[in-house]
Amino acid sequence: MDSAALMPNLDVHASPRRVSILGATGSVGGSTLDLIARNPQAYDVVALTANTNAVGLAKLAIEHGAGLAVVADESCYADLKDALAGSGVEAAAGSGALIEAAGRPADWIMAAISGAAGLRPTFEAARQGTHLAFANKECLVSAGDVFMQTVAAAQTSLLPVDSEHSAAFQAIDSSPSDSIERIVLTASGGPFRTWSHEQLKRATLADALKHPNWTMGRKITIDSATMMNKGLELIEAYHLFPVERDQLDVLIHPQSIIHCLVEYSDGSVLAQMSSPDMRTPIAYSLAWPRRMWAPTERLDLAKLGELTFEAPDETRFKALRIAREALAKGGSASTVLNAANEVFVAAFLKEEIGFLSISDCVEATMEQAERGFGGQAAVTLDDVLEIDKEARALATRQLELVA
Ligand code: NDP
Repeated sequence: MDSAALMPNLDVHASPRRVSILGATGSVGGSTLDLIARNPQAYDVVALTANTNAVGLAKLAIEHGAGLAVVADESCYADLKDALAGSGVEAAAGSGALIEAAGRPADWIMAAISGAAGLRPTFEAARQGTHLAFANKECLVSAGDVFMQTVAAAQTSLLPVDSEHSAAFQAIDSSPSDSIERIVLTASGGPFRTWSHEQLKRATLADALKHPNWTMGRKITIDSATMMNKGLELIEAYHLFPVERDQLDVLIHPQSIIHCLVEYSDGSVLAQMSSPDMRTPIAYSLAWPRRMWAPTERLDLAKLGELTFEAPDETRFKALRIAREALAKGGSASTVLNAANEVFVAAFLKEEIGFLSISDCVEATMEQAERGFGGQAAVTLDDVLEIDKEARALATRQLELVA
């Protein structure tokens, strides 16, 4: 980090905020720690977690003076303990330790584990009743109603971190919710925005990992290429904001400068703009309800010249249509959607299936699940996890047919 960029925000919080980061070694985790390191007097790091990256986690824990470091994968415990030897940072491993870390008292917790693997720890963090910065969209897609009930019961302040949802949160802020007519999530269109169906058939993993605007983890980068990411975000927005399904829309905006538009009953449209850098929405959640300085590139609209928009193409990018249908169906459809998508994205990342097979297989799995367990709705987190497990079993069988 450039020391000139260490710009203290002495007045961000009256006293240091105790923070924990679930998924500290990832892309969102790294951006969060970058902001924290620029304001060391404003934050005390309680716990940091990872899955297998024990050495990376230990380095971060020592650098940021964390009290506890946890790897979810127990086979990585010895590496973590060795790497933390003599540092004074407590080491732990396993799913129980991950949940314990999420429940350790903190004022602000970043939920940035990728995928449904983050469900239990994110629920545990939500039960603390403090501030939950929420990046793990798969949690809301998979367990939407159950998760929102947990948040409401604990009176937790849920702070969206996904750039579009942070933008909507900022644009809605103090406006009366019954005056919102429409929320429009923007999408860059990903690396294949202009590719034909024929070209998409030949898209490689390397092509799909080349996002034009954002640097992110591998799973979300593939979701952006299929546009499933935007589908997941529609479902996320439905649970986060006071709107019906038909009040949510998607608009392609290749420059990724406007992140969301909120239309009001008087015809006003409020948009939030910033350069495509996750540190802006993360900073908003970290300092909320105040604001803090973030080291992001400032917008130069004259230099940019123009901002362009297109309607999404749900024929070439059918994942968006599939996600919309899951949202319309309700019940367990979103849980199945998320589980199947995780299975097929993982298969594509291992180059076991082609790019177009991701959405085709998700659709086939959803049809099978509807015939099989008929869309029953989850009432508890355990119900969600059971549906997720059944959907993964169906998806794995589907994978055997195409891989
Ligand atoms: P990364 O893949 O970069 O990081 C994922 C983090 O989760 C890592 O710390 C990883 O640990 C940990 N993790 C992965 N699997 C498990 C598991 N089974 N148990 C416990 N921990 C696990 O992901 P991103 O940072 O890109 O994304 C995180 C979340 O934020 C996702 O839900 C994504 O959709 C969302 N998001 C991300 C954005 C971005 O810009 N990256 C933007 C908006 C939302 P390890 O390093 O050991 O594997």
